[in-house]
Amino acid sequence: MQNDCASSRDTVRCLLLIRLMRRRLNQERITLLIYFSMTWDKTYHWNVILLVKSYEQFWNGNTGMYARQNISTWWLSRSKTIRYSLESLDIRRSPARYIPADQRIALLVNDKHAIHHVQEQGYVEAPVRIDSILTEIEGTGLFQRFVPHRFSEKHIKSVHDSKFVNYLKKVCARLEPTESVYPYVFPLRNVARPPTELPIRAGYYCIDTFTPLNRNVYPAAKRAVDCALTAAEKILEGYRLAYALIRPPGHHAEHRAFGGFCYFNSAAIAAEYLSKHGKIALVDIDYHHGNGQQNIFYERSDVLTISIHGNPHFAFPYFSGFKDEKGLGAGKNYNMNIPLPENVDGERYHRALEIAMKRVARFRPDFLVIALGLDTAKSDPTGTWSLEAEDFEANGQMLGSLNLPTLVIQEGGYDSHVLGINARHFFAGLWSGAFKD
Ligand SMILES: [Zn+2]
Repeated sequence: MQNDCASSRDTVRCLLLIRLMRRRLNQERITLLIYFSMTWDKTYHWNVILLVKSYEQFWNGNTGMYARQNISTWWLSRSKTIRYSLESLDIRRSPARYIPADQRIALLVNDKHAIHHVQEQGYVEAPVRIDSILTEIEGTGLFQRFVPHRFSEKHIKSVHDSKFVNYLKKVCARLEPTESVYPYVFPLRNVARPPTELPIRAGYYCIDTFTPLNRNVYPAAKRAVDCALTAAEKILEGYRLAYALIRPPGHHAEHRAFGGFCYFNSAAIAAEYLSKHGKIALVDIDYHHGNGQQNIFYERSDVLTISIHGNPHFAFPYFSGFKDEKGLGAGKNYNMNIPLPENVDGERYHRALEIAMKRVARFRPDFLVIALGLDTAKSDPTGTWSLEAEDFEANGQMLGSLNLPTLVIQEGGYDSHVLGINARHFFAGLWSGAFKD
């Protein structure tokens, strides 16, 4: 039928791609596509030929990628003048790349991220970050997007202090829609006496003065966690690679503290979830030290935490990320910090990543979790380094070649002009390291 249609010059051919039906079936997304061609035949009746296909999981409306698997075929006849034929037809709209379903990167995007928007000048952790990345990666054909599930708050409390989680929920819910609370009192000297007034208590749980609380912080951060956990679930289902494209970020959030634009540590929560199934290496490649997961897993030997970052002598968070912080008790030697100088290019970074990867290989983890910061890029407003697109691709490739089920959690990266491009290159590298080596 494909050939008949294609060769008939008298045929007015239309191609309609209709996302007719989407439903979950064994957790797979099904999409029906309808093609139809119309011919004006000798009986002056329109012959409408509908060609319908079912594609498993594969359809991504923006990339033009179609699967070639699990095609269903039907034939229907409705009337004398209009004949419908629905049949198997393999048409592909010049895809960017053809990636088999089992090699796709499961993609989870925080669909509620935009409700958290601190509209103050200089607040670079903005919704445009997600759009910038999504626009670039959608066209690659590498990803398969899923809808995040809701998870119980107990997962958040598995790495964060319950009182801290309850506080964030309560204070956010009580704020007016336009109200923001910036921590300004830090009662660290008397931890037994948290301030009674909820807004004033913010500093009791915060590490800095530039991470405000507002009404939408809790729901946005909770949804980010849901995405990270759904992505972790995809890894357990057998996806080799999964990516939680989320904001607000999380890697500065400690057991009982928020800060650095972060509220809940999504990477740590996902790592904790996966740790029930094996050993975890959590590698943080953000420009800033991953103090959150260091703090959370500092006394654990089943979760190896590694961070490559700007030396805290000059870079946020200033109080942790030093080389001699190696873990405590059972966790001794299961935390590795690789602080680097102010000027770092792709080559220097590559050497640091090699050291991290050797440590990961020695640890022999079952899963790799990557806290992906793209603020190591040249021109990032929060960093001082000069990594470029090809460096991100090389880094991705190195990490992919570790040959581990890999969950990537989005952290920092604030230059929206290059953010998406660098993400695209990172994932191209990660994918090729995972499947081509
Ligand atoms: Zn950062």
